[in-house]
Amino acid sequence: MSMQSRRTFIQTTVAAACALPILMTTKNSIAQTPPTAPVAPTDPMAIALGYVDDATKVDVAKYPRKAGPEGAKMLCSNCILYAGGDIKIPGKDGVWGKCNVIASGLVNSNGWCNSWAPKAA
Ligand code: SF4
Repeated sequence: MSMQSRRTFIQTTVAAACALPILMTTKNSIAQTPPTAPVAPTDPMAIALGYVDDATKVDVAKYPRKAGPEGAKMLCSNCILYAGGDIKIPGKDGVWGKCNVIASGLVNSNGWCNSWAPKAA
């Protein structure tokens, strides 16, 4: 390897080593950006799980576990998968939070989906 090639190799390696932490930080920042808007009605995961912003509007014929007094108690706010956040969204009713399943947007604390599971007591 010539002196010029060795110098170029070392410069390139040092530059890459310096840039790596910056790239990793940027990538992590983007990946961890929390949602700030409600989950879109067109979200495939929300559709698949029957998510609704208002748990009183669940189609209990399709989701019979949501029927009756026990079903009425099932809300995002008491779901083990609700990461919360107590977020108010301008122009939207209620309090919103993050969901560990439907991650593309915020879910309403009074919402529900078929992945509901009780929070540990
Ligand atoms: S998994 Fe839980 S918190 Fe997420 S949408 Fe379904 S009921 Fe709500």
